[in-house]
Amino acid sequence: MNKLCSSANYLEANTIRAMLDSEGIEVFLKGEALAGAMGELPMNVTEIEVFVKPEQFAQAERLLNDFKQRQEHGNNWLCGECGEENAPAFEICWSCQNSQ
Ligand SMILES: [Zn+2]
Repeated sequence: MNKLCSSANYLEANTIRAMLDSEGIEVFLKGEALAGAMGELPMNVTEIEVFVKPEQFAQAERLLNDFKQRQEHGNNWLCGECGEENAPAFEICWSCQNSQ
């Protein structure tokens, strides 16, 4: 398994996982269990590490770069199917999986 990136933000790590997962890339988060126990460890900053399979690493890295660029420069978009608002990083609706 190769480490793709790490994030101190649990939500961001899970957003990255959902994005890669929708592209067929298997993602493993390390540190997730600790994040769940954060209430008991208020002073600890938990870092979530994102791992992918070596054979999917190059593709995952490319997708992550695109993802970050869209997050920085994109605008939220509304799903034409269900009307939900989606973050720029998502190409498909989080709610109904309709494509943009
Ligand atoms: Zn939708």
